[in-house]
Order: sequence, then C-alpha cells, then structure tokens
Amino acid sequence: MATTDDSFNGMTEHCDHCDLETLHEVSVQIRTESMKEENSQFSREPYRVSECQQCGHRTSQRMNNA
Ligand SMILES: [Zn+2]
Repeated sequence: MATTDDSFNGMTEHCDHCDLETLHEVSVQIRTESMKEENSQFSREPYRVSECQQCGHRTSQRMNNA
C-alpha cells in the first residue's frame, strides 16, 4: 500500500502566465460534457488541472486525448 501523506501534489511546470518554471498544484477533475446531442449521453472527461502557485493561473488539459 502506498502511503502518500503528502496531500499537496506539487510539481514544477512551465507557467504560460509567468513564463517561468513554477510550482504547480496538480489535480484531476472530472468534467461532464455533452458531446452529441443526439445521443443525449454525457461523457465524463478527466481533466488534469494545474494551478500555478506563483500567480494562480490555471491550466487544464484533457487527459484522454487520442
Ligand atoms: Zn504562473
């Protein structure tokens, strides 16, 4: 069993806003999107959200892009 006491999921990434490598808090969000209206089915897309700890700028990208 992996013990992750560290609740802060920090990563150093490039921030577009700072134009620097800064510390980011990374989390995963599930967003519900309606892709096709005909289907009336909602797809849940996991997004990886990283928030710059320097300026608070958030970037999200879809995780399962083909
Ligand atoms: Zn930033």
